[in-house]
Amino acid sequence: MCGIVGAVAQRDVVDILVEGLRRLEYRGYDSAGVAVVGTAGELQRLRRLGKVKELADAVAAQPVPGGTGIAHTRWATHGEPSERNAHPHVSGNITVVHNGIIENHGPLRQALQAKGYVFNSDTDTEVIAHLVEDELKKAGSLLAAVQNAVKQFSGAYGTVLMDKTDPSHLVVARSGSPLVIGLGIGENFIASDQLALLPVTRRFMFLEEGDVAEITRQSVTVYDKSGVQVERAVVESNASYDAGDKGQYRHFMLKEIYEQPSAINNTLEGRLSNDSVLDETFGNGAADLFKKVKHIQIVACGTSYHSGMVARYWLESLGGISCNVEIASEFRYRKSFVQPNSLLVSISQSGETADTLAALRMAKEAGYIGSLTICNVAGSSLVRESDLAFMTRAGAEIGVASTKAFTTQLVGLAMLTLAIGKYNGLTAAQQQEMVTALRSLPAKLEETLTLATSIETLAEEFADKHHSLFLGRGDQYPIAMEGALKLKEISYIHAEAYAAGELKHGPLALIDADMPIIVVAPNNELLEKLQSNVEEVRARGGILYVFADIDAHFKSDATQRVVNVPHVHPLIAPIIYTIPLQLLSYYVAIIKGTDVDQPRNLAKSVTVE
Ligand code: GLU
Repeated sequence: MCGIVGAVAQRDVVDILVEGLRRLEYRGYDSAGVAVVGTAGELQRLRRLGKVKELADAVAAQPVPGGTGIAHTRWATHGEPSERNAHPHVSGNITVVHNGIIENHGPLRQALQAKGYVFNSDTDTEVIAHLVEDELKKAGSLLAAVQNAVKQFSGAYGTVLMDKTDPSHLVVARSGSPLVIGLGIGENFIASDQLALLPVTRRFMFLEEGDVAEITRQSVTVYDKSGVQVERAVVESNASYDAGDKGQYRHFMLKEIYEQPSAINNTLEGRLSNDSVLDETFGNGAADLFKKVKHIQIVACGTSYHSGMVARYWLESLGGISCNVEIASEFRYRKSFVQPNSLLVSISQSGETADTLAALRMAKEAGYIGSLTICNVAGSSLVRESDLAFMTRAGAEIGVASTKAFTTQLVGLAMLTLAIGKYNGLTAAQQQEMVTALRSLPAKLEETLTLATSIETLAEEFADKHHSLFLGRGDQYPIAMEGALKLKEISYIHAEAYAAGELKHGPLALIDADMPIIVVAPNNELLEKLQSNVEEVRARGGILYVFADIDAHFKSDATQRVVNVPHVHPLIAPIIYTIPLQLLSYYVAIIKGTDVDQPRNLAKSVTVE
């Protein structure tokens, strides 16, 4: 969460900093701030409550010249969103921006207050500024002061510090929150995501856990957690910021929904032969590892967790292998039993999800035979720290509510099922059938997207609703969960998902005409069971919205609206049925007038636990 940008250059940097924040805004958008050291050594700090646009307007009205500066867009964890809590925070000559949480901020604050430091915000971050200021009195340099200070922190931080008396350098430190150094010619940069720096460089150095680095215009010096000077590789990035504009679409989310056919085309590209998935798809050595795997443990959060849940159905029914799926924040804090020859599979759009990353690191010690990540961001922590990686190639996803990242994850997991299944009894004929089904996806998705107009009309019926229930069975149960999550995230309507067979064990008590029931009903072996569950709801006066295969024979009437979804192979049905649910939540949010791309209280890339 949160965006950080910093620069040490000869030219004025404020525009670079603010443009960087604009590109990182999806990571946090409750307030933003910038601090630049002026030519006379004065600190010029501007902070604004609200989005980066507010800060950009302030900068336009009050220029802040200078070549060394830091900037931040915040996702508040400690202290309400307000101007006084916005970063950068200052202590004496020291200015700081921070991504993450300093968990022991309470005792540190008390100790610093006892020494006379005055706190001007409610943030945990401010302890960094005062502690470094305090350490600087003893240490000979900002670098040494930061190295001493970070030893006293518990929690997670990506932090950048500036000393206004010496603007020739920035000092940065990373533990638990990502930071990347951008290398220029006669100027250098720092950011929490390379996207922020693409206008100024393509050469990046990713910091590792515990690293502290000193950045000047001419040099970057990195020290590892024990203080030893180390070299970190410089990589040439081919990332693109293709999400910069919404094109013909009103919101990034809608654009990203419509990008799914082409995104999935990219995901499939060059990875399938006529009748199987190519071994290189998951990286070097994947085939050797997959041959040995006897169990899969999936860890993920939020939307990615739902894709993992779908994968469990596939891996067990087609891949011939047992599979557990667990929310990463739970998995990481419990002692779990590691089955022999288990592969740990992490799923994350950003590759920086704090809990998922922690689960991966924990699993390394726990006896898994290897790790694979399904991820959308090249060079992210999960990709770098996993043995194998499947890149989803969805392109940058800017809407906070995930859409194309989810469906491309599902494609990756279907390919994993193929890749593992071939060593566990998946026949050549089955593989060929699955490959054909996957290849049919882009065209079937295009066809499904034509349902948008009828779904837009349907959405009007949700305008005055406060609660909703989503139902599915089998591999559509996680799709119902994902549909409910989307509706919650962007329309703020309370939504719950149930495996339809569970209705009579409690939720039937909630059914009345004010509780819309959304049902995903492909024509599969569970259809008859699902139809019975739907009748149970109808008999109790519920209003149903059924997304059904044309052959499922649901008919619209006074209490049931039916939207016919194209008939598809069962393997890809979870991907196809996701589309109408995304569209439904989008159009309901439009009617509700919410901020679709940046819903309240949320942020993308959840880098705090
Ligand atoms: N914990 C800090 C705060 O609440 C940083 C939050 C962030 O990552 O934006 O200000």
